[in-house]
Order: sequence, then structure tokens, then C-alpha cells
Amino acid sequence: MKTPIQVLKTYFGYDSFRPGQESLISAVLSGRDALGIMPTGAGKSLCYQVPALILPGLTLVVTPLISLMEDQTAALARRRIPARALNSAMSRTEREEALSLAAAGRLRLLYVSPERLTSPRFLSFAEHADISLLVVDEAHCISGWGRDFRPSYRKIADFAARLPVRPVICAMTATATAEVRADIVSSLRLKDPLTLVTGFDRPNLFFTVQHPADKWEALLCFLRKYKGSSGIVYCMTRRTVEALARRLAYHGFPCRPYHAGLKKSVREQNQRDWLAGKIPLIVATNAFGMGIDKPDVRFVLHYNLPMDMENYYQEAGRAGRDGKPSECILLTNDRDLPICRFFLDHPERQEAGPARGVHFPHRRSPAEVSSEAFRTYQLEKLRNMQRYASGKSCLRRAMLAAFGEASPAFCGKCSVCLRLPDPGLKSFRLRPDLENAALHRELIALRRRLSKKTGVPPWKIFPDRTLHDLALIRPLGFFDLLMVENAGLIRCLRFGRPFLEEIRSFVETH
Ligand code: ADP
Ligand code: MG
Repeated sequence: MKTPIQVLKTYFGYDSFRPGQESLISAVLSGRDALGIMPTGAGKSLCYQVPALILPGLTLVVTPLISLMEDQTAALARRRIPARALNSAMSRTEREEALSLAAAGRLRLLYVSPERLTSPRFLSFAEHADISLLVVDEAHCISGWGRDFRPSYRKIADFAARLPVRPVICAMTATATAEVRADIVSSLRLKDPLTLVTGFDRPNLFFTVQHPADKWEALLCFLRKYKGSSGIVYCMTRRTVEALARRLAYHGFPCRPYHAGLKKSVREQNQRDWLAGKIPLIVATNAFGMGIDKPDVRFVLHYNLPMDMENYYQEAGRAGRDGKPSECILLTNDRDLPICRFFLDHPERQEAGPARGVHFPHRRSPAEVSSEAFRTYQLEKLRNMQRYASGKSCLRRAMLAAFGEASPAFCGKCSVCLRLPDPGLKSFRLRPDLENAALHRELIALRRRLSKKTGVPPWKIFPDRTLHDLALIRPLGFFDLLMVENAGLIRCLRFGRPFLEEIRSFVETH
């Protein structure tokens, strides 16, 4: 029998394992379930592809997208590893061929969508097949907490239970929140799984946050800096994508748009041209990028504030897969936050994943997560994002902290650590022109009055920094108020109303 390292060398041509791969592989080979939480690009596929070449039976891989299946099986074919996909884009004959190869033991890996697991034809195959390993890739799709929720992922455990012998189950994801992790373990009914979280730091990425009053100007600056290199510009909405792509082309920056509202053929052509390097720049919504492995992306620029750090990390992390220095830029200003909140309430108005209508949070099953709890959870995630975007402390540290990873206060590789000029920062932070200063004074006076009345010291009502932000952001409703840094739920419940009233009347009179 070949050892994992031999398989790695002979089939994949790599010299050594990356962090985490070897422990996951040995767990699976020893018959133990496993949950691998590794950032995008870390090499999760190899963790089950190597065992697939060693275990006696078939490795069945559940994966959410046809494009992911096709990329993977094509890559395996290049390495002369017998693998097939089974999906609706194939003809019936092709599917039957794949199934009979698998039934004859002539495939090492078979890739399927979660929906396939409930089809009678597939079940009759699976009930007689020798399946050693069941892989659940992009396993966060199982969780109602995530925006990629896919109801059929919830049925995987039932499928496994129907098999004559329960295979080893191995789940893989790049999503690290505790809620999602717990959901994966319970829904898949993993047995004492080895849970492995590898470092989320990407040392070759430089992080930049800017707060320009005029984002378009700032965008042009970055595009001039990166002229000719491959890059992605992410926008919040399809409309922004269309407008920016047109405007950029007009200003001499060849680019293509990508969002789920475009015709499939156009979308795919744009993606292909960008992948092939024919077009350096793609302007896209978050529908773009899942499973894309283009090594030489030199920069990823976000033109709007993403809704949470996981999405930001996923999208920004598409830069620098080749390990060379690359930059992740976030352009944000004080107009972003209300937009994000709007989309929290109206996810259908934004962009979904590539298959429109499949990935919306409101499709989560209501039994598991109450909508109030879900909203609070999302607001908390947005607040993490806001903390990062404020640019007040080391960006790398803020990012890793959101994934529960500790890191030094100074990374030396972000715009905050290097104190790079932020053209708009001053105006972003101090937009108290005079008017804000007036509101700020009134809020201070209100706080003094409340303090006298209740005996609570002023700083306990709202700290100075929070008052300052209140004057700047001017929340009009309770949830807006909650979004202000350090506002805190308890404080908002106790003192929020008079502050909201003060702000409202100020806004009305000015
Ligand atoms: P993930 O699923 O974690 O996002 P992939 O499995 O797609 O990542 O792997 C990303 C890239 O890293 C692939 O090109 C893969 O071949 C490469 N890779 C994985 N493991 C190794 C390794 N041990 N040595 C070198 N390259 C590797
Ligand atoms: Mg993957």
C-alpha cells in the first residue's frame, strides 16, 4: 500500500504537505471522521484526494456547484486519476457511463451534488457500491447561519445512514464561525471528528483600507498603480457593477462585468476571458469567484463595504494565490453602512450566489434559527466588518480576530501599521463640519442631563467616542443605534430612546 507522501509525490508532484493536510489525511485513513476548517486556497481537496487513492473503495464527494465538479474532475484527469462527476449538465448516457464505471470499481472519486443523493437511480447505485469515504465539500452550505445555505445538504446524513456500511465522513469548509462549525458536526452526525483549524493568515497579502470621499477617484489611483495586472473589483449591487464597468472601459481600463443577472453565456465568457488573462480586470458582485483558482491575481478591490468578514476574507483572499505580494483594498465611506443594513433586511435585492434564489438566508429552516436571533447574529458580523473598516488598528489583526485567531498588534503589512496616507480619513472621521459639532454638543448636554437624573456617570451612559460617532452617523432607529461602535445593547435599551429623539429632532430642524 502506498503512503500518503508517496501518493502526494507520484500523483500530484508536490514535495511536502501543507499545514494540516497530513493530520486530516491520517485521521481519515484511520477511519475517523474529520472536519477541516482551512482558508480558501489552503489545499482542502488534497486532504480527501490522497485518501481516495489509498482507501479500497470509492470516495464520494458532495459539492454544491457544477463548475466546482468540473474544475476538480478536469484537474484529476490531467493527473491521470480516474474521477467523474455526475450532474444535470451531462447527458443520460454520460451519467450511466460514470455510474457503471463507479459500480465496477474503476473510479477513485465521484463528484455529485447534494440533490443527487436523493434520486432513486443514484440510491440504487449507492446501496450496492463500496463507498469508503464520503466527503462534504463547502460544508458550510449545511448551515442556516450562512448565506450559502442549501437545504439538500441537510439530507446527507440520512443518505449515509442508508448505505450498507457507514463510510468515514470528512467535511471541509473555509467558514470558521462557531455556529456554523457546530451545525456541521450535528447535521452530519459526525462521530468524534478530528477538528482541524489551520491558520487564516495570508502573509503575502497587503491589506489597505481607505475612506475616500470620492471612491471613483480612489479607484482610478489603484487601477493606475496596477495597470496591466490581473485584478477583481467587487461591488455590492449589479447596478454598481454595470455602471462601473462601463465607466472604466470608457476611461481606458479594459474590463468585463460579472453578476448573476447577466445571461449565462455572457457571464461564462467574461469569466473565461479573465481567467485566460485576455482581460485584466473583472468587475463583479459576490456571485463571482467561488472555486476560482487563478494564481496571479495581484489585487482585489472592494468598492463597497462587505456584509461580514468571512465574505470579505473569501473574496479578498482570491488575491495572491501564487504566494507573490498582492494587495486587498477596501474603499469605504459613511454611506456604506446604511446600504449594508438595507440589504440585511432585503437580501433579495442584492446579489445572490450564482444560482439565483438558492443562497438566500431567508431560506434557512425557521425551526433552527429564529429570525430575531439571525438578525442579531448578522448585525454582530457587520459590526466586526465595521471594526475592520474603521482602520483604527492593525487590519490583519482585526481580520484574524474575527476568525478567533490571535495575532500581534503590529503586522507591518497593512495600511494602518504603515500609516499610509488615507486621503479621505480626515473627512470620514471629522465630517463634523460645524453641523456635526453642534449635534455633538447637544448630545453631550443630553448625556449630562441624563447623568444628573439617574446618577449614572456620563461615560457609563455612552463613552465620548460613541457620542462622537453618534453625531457623525446619526442613527435614526434602534438598530442603527446598535451598529454604532461601543453603543452596546444594554446601554441602548436603557438610554437609547432619548438620544434617538434628540438626533431625530436635530435632523428635522437642520
Ligand atoms: P481549497 O479547496 O482549500 O480552497 P484547493 O484544494 O483548491 O484549495 O487547493 C489550492 C491549490 O493548492 C491547488 O492548486 C492545489 O493543487 C494546491 N496544493 C494543495 N496542496 C498542496 C501541497 N501540499 N503542495 C503544493 N500545492 C498544493
Ligand atoms: Mg475547495
